[in-house]
Amino acid sequence: MRYYLKITLLQKYLIMPKKKKPVKKLQLGCDDCYHKGYLVEKKNNLARAKICNCIINCQSCNGTGATLTRNDNGYIYINPCGICGVIQRNVKLYNMAGIPAKYFDVLQVDTFQPRNHESHQKALSYAKEFVQLYPDKKGFLLMGAAGLGKTHLAIGTISEMTLERGVKCLFKDFFYLLSELKEAYSFGTAENEVIRPLVETDILVIDELGKGRSNEWELNILDQLISKRYNASKMTLITTNYISETMENRDPENNEILELRVGKRIASRLYEMCEFIPLKGRDYRTLRRGL
Ligand SMILES: [Zn+2]
Ligand SMILES: [Zn+2]
Repeated sequence: MRYYLKITLLQKYLIMPKKKKPVKKLQLGCDDCYHKGYLVEKKNNLARAKICNCIINCQSCNGTGATLTRNDNGYIYINPCGICGVIQRNVKLYNMAGIPAKYFDVLQVDTFQPRNHESHQKALSYAKEFVQLYPDKKGFLLMGAAGLGKTHLAIGTISEMTLERGVKCLFKDFFYLLSELKEAYSFGTAENEVIRPLVETDILVIDELGKGRSNEWELNILDQLISKRYNASKMTLITTNYISETMENRDPENNEILELRVGKRIASRLYEMCEFIPLKGRDYRTLRRGL
């Protein structure tokens, strides 16, 4: 023991140079992509991610996208490269999520700036925990007036889940979702073919739930979709301008009730699947205009 100590002290003070040994770490990315390895831009109506040039020539796999590993029995396996392979997969997932172009710069939950209101802080904290603890925390349903940042927060969540966590997500505007379903049914597409991708995605965002007048047929399809996702234990994130009747101290200015828009059955199913979070306050766009 004494001998060992002597040697280490000797090494420390006499043999080893005093300056710290640099830790050799593979630097990911470049300044252009803020060391993320991908860039996101607007393309037509959608936000599109692409691999940064610095990743195309990945140092870890020499740009092949794969690495070889040998197991104990001597067999060689091909694995996707832990750096560029993962980024490529996540970029694909982001591009499949259908995120609208105007949210191309909303890549993280943290980009949501909570207004000076407890409810906004609560919404932000919940979304952050949802991302960190996925899939151990249930989805969320953000309700409140237009322009409070509900969609922003939902998009921040799925951007982070795709780009950083590699989870399959899908964004659907409620109104377009219904028209897509209607169109598919009118072409005689099999029911499963229409609903399957909406059920299979790990996280589905339904934006502006309850917007417009929905008929019984539409609500029935929506009910099927929600029930199937519930049975498959998939996460659903919802934004809506309507307030659930289950909320205490409802804003008297907002008397539009979610249960009246989508029916009690859907609303109570959502209550089981999502944390209901009311966002209070007025539209920030109106406030900015000084109205
Ligand atoms: Zn780069
Ligand atoms: Zn690589």
